[in-house]
Amino acid sequence: MKQTETKSPSKRLRQKLLMYFLGFSAIILGALWLMQTVFLDDLYKAIKTVGIEKSADYICENINEQKVEELLDEVAAQNDIRIEVYKINDVPFKKVYSSEGNWDLEVNYRVYSFYEQAASRGGEAFFSDELEFHGDLPKNELQGGLNLTCVRLMTNGDTNIMIVLDSLVTPIASTVTTLRFILIIITALLVVLSVAMSVMISLRFSEPLKDTNEKAKALAREDYSVTFDSQGYREIEELNATLNFATQELGLASKLREELVANVSHDLRTPLTMIKGYAEVMRDIPGEMNEENLQAIVDESTRLSNLVSDLLDISKLQSGAVPIEKKVFSLTDCTADILSRFANLSKQEYTLSFDYQQDVNVFADKARIEQVLYNLISNAVNYSGEKKTVKVNQKVFENSVRIEVCDSGQGIEPEKLKHIWDRYYRTGSNHQRAVVGTGLGLSIVREILEKHNSHFGVTSKIGEGSTFWFDLDIYNEK
Ligand code: ADP
Repeated sequence: MKQTETKSPSKRLRQKLLMYFLGFSAIILGALWLMQTVFLDDLYKAIKTVGIEKSADYICENINEQKVEELLDEVAAQNDIRIEVYKINDVPFKKVYSSEGNWDLEVNYRVYSFYEQAASRGGEAFFSDELEFHGDLPKNELQGGLNLTCVRLMTNGDTNIMIVLDSLVTPIASTVTTLRFILIIITALLVVLSVAMSVMISLRFSEPLKDTNEKAKALAREDYSVTFDSQGYREIEELNATLNFATQELGLASKLREELVANVSHDLRTPLTMIKGYAEVMRDIPGEMNEENLQAIVDESTRLSNLVSDLLDISKLQSGAVPIEKKVFSLTDCTADILSRFANLSKQEYTLSFDYQQDVNVFADKARIEQVLYNLISNAVNYSGEKKTVKVNQKVFENSVRIEVCDSGQGIEPEKLKHIWDRYYRTGSNHQRAVVGTGLGLSIVREILEKHNSHFGVTSKIGEGSTFWFDLDIYNEK
């Protein structure tokens, strides 16, 4: 079989995985680099700002408590903040607390400017100053650093106080360099990991797929002995189960096809050989030109035409070429009619009986239902064994009618029962010429009844006989 070739083959699983992993790593690394290099300063400042303001709020809420100094010491130490508290009832202000124990410094002009600004803004002020203000800091720490100051005015009893919180945002250039180095290592590690993971995962995923693919190719070459058994994950196991099922079905179909060729050629050749033989005998031997031989030719021709029409019927039914044409007719009359035809043909050799209580009308395709009855009764006659008895029963239920065709034959073995409806299935591989059949009768019955949405089935007991039945809805004029 020729395989379709794709012009631009898709990427291999490994390449795709590698692409995804690298893409994923690139996004994460990009985000990290951006955070570390571009936004780190702003982020640091924002966190510090929130921290200092929260500390100021906390102090304002708790300043009335005893042990104020302890509280202030704690807040200063925990948040790395310098805190100073001034009594501001009179000028000059008086420093009453300093977290750094700095009592000597004069209250300088900055403190007054803080007060003025805070007073003009409703008791709160926030400053973010370049570090040059703090002349006492070493020079190298001044580069680009910030001093955040939060000022709060409040009244404690009859004392007016001003709280000043200072926090230093130290330059983080050296930190960034360290982080950058760490990031380079992480980047290298992630790239290596991405490659390793994509190779590992693709191996894990593609190995079972490769195996399944190889076996599927064997299946395409009509090797039905393959078993899809590669494991690894649920999807591949489900795919394998489906492929195993397909293999089984394909094997069966292929076996049936071989049988079909064998059956059809056998069934076609036998009557043809017989016709040819009889005709030659009649041509060559003058005394053989008799009615009996002519009848044999007629019988064999009939068998041939039956086989051909069965073959045509089933393919037409299956392809839907002949639509089902429903009309109202009496199923009882129809059954009785077909039975009487068989009775005439069999020349009292067989006991055929029909048991029914009432006349029942159905809405169905008359010609097709006749065919069903014909095939079932014909099988019953063919397989009725020594007793040669065929009974047909009509049973009426509330809305439906059931026709049962019972024979007195050998019965069918339980394991063969479910196959008898298949095309070309014939129990027993040796064709007994006494029993004439194409192996198509029951599959035609099945096709027709399925097209009528009818229930049908068979019960059989070895040594006692079989009963084939089907149901049809009773036609009710209302
Ligand atoms: P065939 O033309 O061979 O009868 P069918 O499709 O009608 O083909 O039947 C399929 C097979 O089912 C038959 O070959 C026969 O083995 C079995 N079968 C059908 N009807 C009966 C029956 N009434 N009793 C026993 N076996 C039956």
